[in-house]
Order: sequence, then C-alpha cells, then structure tokens
Amino acid sequence: MSDWEDEYDEGGVAIQKPATKSAPTEWKPPSYDSRRENVCFGVRGGGRSGAPREWRADRGGGGGGGEGSEYTSRANGSERRPGRRTFGDERPVTFTVENTSVGRVIGRGGAKIRELEESTGARIKINRGDYEAEVVLFGSSDAQQKAKEMIEDLVADGNSRFPNALQAADVAPAPASIDWNSIRENKDKYEELKWKDLPPMKKKFYTEAESVSMLTAEEVCQWRKENNNIFVDDLKEEGEKRNIPNPCRTFLEAFELYPDVMENIEHVGFAKPTPIQSQAWPVLLSGEDLIAIAQTGTGKTLAYLLPGFIHMDGQPLPRAEQDGPGMLVLTPTRELALQVETECKKYRYKGYKSICIYGGGDRRGQINLVKCGVDIVIATPGRLNDLQMNELISLRSITYLVLDEADRMLDMGFEPQIMKILLDIRPDRQTVMTSATWPTGVRRLAKSYLKSPMMVYVGTLDLAAVNTVQQTVLIVHEEEKKAYVFDFIRNMLPQDKVLIFVGKKLVADDLSSDMCLQGLAVQSLHGDREQCDREEALKDFKESRVRILVATDLASRGLDVADITRVFNYDFPRNIEEYVHRVGRTGRAGRSGASVTLVTRENWRMAPELIPILERAGQEVPEELVLMAERYEKHKREKELCNPREREGGEGRRGGGGGGGGRRRGGGGGWRDGGGRGGRDRSENWGF
Ligand code: AMP
Repeated sequence: MSDWEDEYDEGGVAIQKPATKSAPTEWKPPSYDSRRENVCFGVRGGGRSGAPREWRADRGGGGGGGEGSEYTSRANGSERRPGRRTFGDERPVTFTVENTSVGRVIGRGGAKIRELEESTGARIKINRGDYEAEVVLFGSSDAQQKAKEMIEDLVADGNSRFPNALQAADVAPAPASIDWNSIRENKDKYEELKWKDLPPMKKKFYTEAESVSMLTAEEVCQWRKENNNIFVDDLKEEGEKRNIPNPCRTFLEAFELYPDVMENIEHVGFAKPTPIQSQAWPVLLSGEDLIAIAQTGTGKTLAYLLPGFIHMDGQPLPRAEQDGPGMLVLTPTRELALQVETECKKYRYKGYKSICIYGGGDRRGQINLVKCGVDIVIATPGRLNDLQMNELISLRSITYLVLDEADRMLDMGFEPQIMKILLDIRPDRQTVMTSATWPTGVRRLAKSYLKSPMMVYVGTLDLAAVNTVQQTVLIVHEEEKKAYVFDFIRNMLPQDKVLIFVGKKLVADDLSSDMCLQGLAVQSLHGDREQCDREEALKDFKESRVRILVATDLASRGLDVADITRVFNYDFPRNIEEYVHRVGRTGRAGRSGASVTLVTRENWRMAPELIPILERAGQEVPEELVLMAERYEKHKREKELCNPREREGGEGRRGGGGGGGGRRRGGGGGWRDGGGRGGRDRSENWGF
C-alpha cells in the first residue's frame, strides 16, 4: 500500500491522503454534525492516521464541518450557514451550551446526538467555539422545541451530577443508560412518519414475449453458456426461490411494449443486446433489485438505464407532478458520472433531463440546474452528500436507484456518504448495484441496501476481453522503468494510441512532463488535476489529438476509448482484477491489442496470480516470473509457519493493502476460486 498514493474523487472525501502541506498539525475547535460522520472531534497531530479525517472535513466541496477552522475560509463555506438554507420547515433555532457539556450531548461515537435526533425529529448541529458551543436545531418548530428541551435537560442533569464540568465533559454517558429498545422503537416510528406521505410506486413493467417464454431450460442454459458463460441467481434468502427470467436475445423481446425505447435503440444502431443486457432487462423490468457483476465495456450502463426510463415513465404520479428527480445514479468518479450522462443523453427518452453532480465541477451551476428541475441525477457521493446536507436537493422522489461500480466507491472510502444519501431515499425503491468484483464490503452493502436481489454475473476476470490482447511481461528494476517506457514510445507506430498506467499521481506528472520535454504530444489523467483539465485530457485522447495518455487507475476508471492499441503498465496495478481491467482497455470491439507490463521485485506477491491469467490467455510466461512466484510462495509458507494467523487470509488487499490476497483463495473467496466459472453453485457466498 505504501507505494501507492490513493486518490480521492472530490469534495466530500479523501482517502488516505498523506499528511502533506495541506494537512494541519495543530488542534482545531471541531464542529459536529451528526449526519456528517467524517467531521471529527479535533484530531490532534498531523500524522498519517490523523490527517485524512480533518482533511475530509475540509474538502466538503463548498464548506465542511469545521466552521471556525482554517478550512472554512472558502467563499462558499458560508452556504452551510443555517440562515441560508433553502429547504427546511422552520428557521433554525440556535442556542449555546458550555463546551464542557458538548460531550454529553454528542455521546460516545455520536450515540446520544443520534438518539436525540431520532426521538425529536430535529437535526442537530454543534459548532464548538473557544468556550461555548453553538447548537443549531433544524426541523419543524415542534421538533426544535423538543430537542432544545431535551438538550437543556441533559446539560442541566450533567452539571448537577458532575459539578466539576471539565470532568463531566470527558465522561461519556455510561452504556447502561442507553435504552436501546426505546431507541429502536423511536427509530421505527420516525421511519414511519418520515415516509408516510409518499405517492404510490409501481415497479413491474415486464410482459414476457412469447418467443422468450417458449425457450426450454436447456436452450436457456445453452444461451448463457455461449454468452460469456453468464450466471444468474436469485439471492432471496427466505422462502422459495423465484423463477429467474429467461434472457431476451433481441431488443424487441425486451422492449416490444415500449416503442420509444425501440426507436432510440434503432437510432444508435446496435445489433443486439450484450449478455448483461439480455439478462438484466427482464429482471429489472419485473421490478426486482439487481446486482450486476460486470465491468465497464459490457454494456452495463444501458442495462440499468433503459429499465430506469421505463420505470420513471410508468409511475402513477406523472413526472411533471413529482417534486424532484426520479432516478439517481451514484458513481465513484466524475469521469464515470460524465460517461453515464453521455449515455443518458444518447437515448434521450421522453425529454428527460439529466444532471451530473460531481466535486470539482461548478457547484453553483449544479445547484442552479437542480433547482430548475431534473429527472435523472448522476452523482459522485461526496458532492451529492454535500448538497443533501445543505438541503439543496431533495431525494424523496427517487424511486430508481443505481449504485454503479460499488466496489470502487467502497475502495474510495465513500461508504459513509452512500449511507447518508440512502437515508433520504424511500426504502421501497428499486435498486441496482453494479460492481466489477464481489468482495465482502460489496456484499455487505448489497445486503444492507438491496431487497432480495437477483444477481447477474458476467465475470470479473473476463478473460475473453484479454484473450485478444498480446500480453508481454518484463521483469525489470525500478530505476530501469523510464528507459523501458521511452523505448516503447520510440517504437510506436503512427496509428498507435497508448494508455500508460502508473500508480501515483506524482509519477503521472513526472512521466508526462518528461515526455513533453522530449517534444511528445501527451496528456495525463489523475485525481489532482482540475476537472476541466481532466476533461480536456480525455477529449484530446479520444479525439486522437494526443496519442499518449498517462493515467492512474482511479482517474481512468470507466474510460471508454475504443481505439486504444496498446496498454503500458508502468507500475503494476494493486490487484489482479485491475490488471485484467487495464489490459482490457485495448483489443476492444473485435480489434487486436497489445500490452506491456513492467514487473519489479516489489510486485512479487502478484506473480502467482498473474501467471494463470497469462496461461489461460495463451500468453508467454517469462521464466523469471515463474521463479518470482515460487520465491513468493516459499516466503509466504515460511511466514505462515512463523505466524499461523497469517493463514486465515481474509479480505486483505483492498481494505488496507496488506497481505496475501485471501479473497481469491482461502477462506472467504467464493465462486471465483480457481477461476472456474462452470457448474458450481456460486450463490453459496451470498452468506454474509
Ligand atoms: P458500458 O459497459 O456501459 O460502459 O458500455 C460500453 C460501451 O458499449 C458504450 O459505449 C455503449 O454505448 C456501448 N454499448 C452498450 N450497449 C451496446 C450494445 N448492445 N451493442 C453494442 N454496443 C453497446
């Protein structure tokens, strides 16, 4: 992990940002907002472990929790101030309590403040000053009144129990005093109240075509086998399993009843649905939640967009009468968000308006567009959460929700934002989740936010995608890498288009400036570049104004450029899925492609995973790579002998970078073990 600089998307979140120039080292008076769990209570020190949390508080893309801290000096920070809120029942009520009482109001890990919010219906924000803290209450006047009384009682009670206030502030309420039953009851009541006035919702829009119903079980099985060996399962946990719908092999089989959709498809000229579309459409049009394990390039966007259009159009309350967007697509990066928006616009359906909301973009402009009324919101979680917290967008009208590239969103640390966003979306919505991988974190997310979903799996390690790519692996020393890449560039043909992957933003900058200095036309794509520069870089590359793009993984996520001829892995990726994903950027749409991957001794733990990929794709496996893998396996065995707990494997790589990649072997792995995609019941690992 240490040799990778993790990227962040935008305003809301930064993950594992090292404590560099922008991270403060001194303690600051904190501010607390119970729904912004990232905002912390004064992190001391600027160490690596402390910095990211304060950093997050800063990067709210328009003001964050820390009023009064040096971070909120930005102009738009003032938009957070209560007086300027746009939505909300009443003007916020403000009063002060002594700093020494704040601990009691917040409670351990924020438990008390949440309890107060749940039982009163008010939202509570606390800004700590030098001596006193300002408590701001949002909500109806009843809720505000109730919350104020409860907080005053709490503070008074604390003062009488702890005359020494300093001591009191540091003593969190004893766990025994928390009445969980009453909290649960209150929560249920609160939920009931929260959703009681929702308009009715419809989810079922599917009538199976005769030609689809007629398919025999054998024919369906054969079709799935021939179409990327697609795998479908019902993940319902209780009661009888449902029938899994047969695939729609043509557009007409899926959308015969929806001529507007058919017209759009004919307009773009696609010949037939991709495997994921064939299986996802009948599931989604039937109103079921869906998990699609599929990568970019499989047609997953259209797989969820078209049923989403039909869903929105078919709601009993016409769109024009709905007070807000009907569909929300959450994506990990702005690039993917923009790409989804492009797809949305391509299939312009019934004049639905879509908007892209992402950090780094024009916040004010995005807010104005939201205010004008939109049907589809495509957003990165950080910025959307920012607008949500400031009540600049209402999510109550959303009935169709997509969590696109969920694994990537978790990797980027967006889970808290996603959780908070989902609190405001009606629970009976229809939900789609896509993910390239199926690790524990994604399963947990799916379990929490999808209801009895069906799953369509088109393969994480879609080796079909890399079988068309000639893959070369070179074992080199770190200091030789530059010479290799320049040699590679010198041998480029005029029609070549090259994507160079690096692990760090700094390396992307360094490499691209070296190339520039040598007179090469090059662009770079990474998370530290301004949004407009990123868009320009992508455009230049897509439109072949430059033929070399140096990119980090996260920035290039979802990059959809069909004519890349070569991929150069300057740094080896973090995991083998990413390798397959990167290499699959070339050799697309029936073209052939080539990749070159530099492997250093620091990458040795990847060697045992890389070899089977190369073998299965019929590629040459360098002898040195085999030796490296053997050395690594030996080292691992020795380590396990010294420390038996190592053997337990576990989630490993993504979570914190350590260890031996237990996900694909050993314990938790699941249906991807050993690479076999045939007969086994792959649903066994739905068990969380
Ligand atoms: P996605 O996996 O959603 O990123 O899609 C990758 C590309 O495939 C996009 O440019 C889509 O427009 C395109 N696409 C989607 N569906 C089809 C289809 N049925 N046939 C051919 N191309 C498609």
